[in-house]
Amino acid sequence: GQCSQVCPVGAITARTEVVDVLRHLDTKRKVVVCSTAPAIRVAPAEEFSTEADFDFTGKMVAGLRKLGFDYIFDTNFSADLTIMEEGTELIDRLNNGGKFPMFTSCCPGWINMVEKSYPELSDNLSSCKSPQQMIGAVIKSYFAKKLGLSTEDIIHVSIMPCTAKKGEARRPEFVQKGKDGKDYPDIDYVITTRELLTLLKLKKINPAELPDDKFDSPLGIGSSAGNLFGVTGGVMEAAIRTAQVITGVENPIPLGELKAIRGLDGIKAANVPLKTKDGKEVSVRAAVVSGGANIQKFLEKIKNKELEFDFIEMMMCPGGCINGGGQPKSADPEIVAKKMQRMYTMDDQAKLRLCHENPEIIDVYKNFLGEPNSHLAHELLHTHYNDRSKTIHDMGHHEKK
Ligand code: SF4
Repeated sequence: GQCSQVCPVGAITARTEVVDVLRHLDTKRKVVVCSTAPAIRVAPAEEFSTEADFDFTGKMVAGLRKLGFDYIFDTNFSADLTIMEEGTELIDRLNNGGKFPMFTSCCPGWINMVEKSYPELSDNLSSCKSPQQMIGAVIKSYFAKKLGLSTEDIIHVSIMPCTAKKGEARRPEFVQKGKDGKDYPDIDYVITTRELLTLLKLKKINPAELPDDKFDSPLGIGSSAGNLFGVTGGVMEAAIRTAQVITGVENPIPLGELKAIRGLDGIKAANVPLKTKDGKEVSVRAAVVSGGANIQKFLEKIKNKELEFDFIEMMMCPGGCINGGGQPKSADPEIVAKKMQRMYTMDDQAKLRLCHENPEIIDVYKNFLGEPNSHLAHELLHTHYNDRSKTIHDMGHHEKK
């Protein structure tokens, strides 16, 4: 994917991160937790099975448990949380004349592109943090409190298909105050799928030989809509599912039938009905774009008013995170299509297919956050963007030069 085009310094940082994670797992001076992105569970499947529909999730959790993580959480939980926040933001913009088109904000490759090359679009971005940063913030507040711990007592390792996620985790705004008043990062380390495979090999763990295991509670349940974040179009599909139910659309698109935004095409589009607060049904023009070159082409057309859309999902890697820069690379071009199909099959077979029906999501609002877009939700789950069009170096490049 595009996100692999980071400077070589990234490679050095990555090696230290794996070593640091091993050190934390071995010494256990702090509570060491991890969270795993949607696309992770389909990628290693290629390494361990030849079956096209092999769901690696249970084995992956078993492997992580064996590595020594104290708690294993699912970034699919926070993908659901993202939909609650972002869906509410979209409906709010519709009802109150907010800025359009609205762009998704979970891909740091895309956020970097806006900040560096299209700063004028900053207000069009959803203010939602990405699922990685949302679960980071929730682990170091909600979950820390449950354990009677403070932010700095927990080491959180985020496992991602993506090298750009390392830079995202180091953004200075993604911190919380510890007992001593100092800022501590919400995410301590980001390791890629490839680095996870390295860790497993170093520890001689073959997850395929282990019995299936389950994520820990309370941040371990994710809907299959949240899981779709791993493929291009998945964020849009998940958001529309929930927004249609929440706004009370008479005939919502049946689950799995929003086919126009599925598949590996670089630019996809669909019109979807949503209801405004005065009971009117409006047709929202949705677009889904993946791949850096496609994004540039598409934005030119938006600027020239050749194309007009209301809600747009952007992913920097062609095909989305299943094809991310941190995933194992295969020479077989059909592998990406297979991984994508596996995500759709997981959705077909899932019992929980709507973000807002996730019982842990219902709990986190009831017991902690209040309502979507509440004051506390804004503090923990939303962010702002900077104009970096005049800075030469990328984030995180300063440290080791
Ligand atoms: Fe990372 Fe996914 Fe964006 Fe690629 S598409 S840069 S893997 S978040």
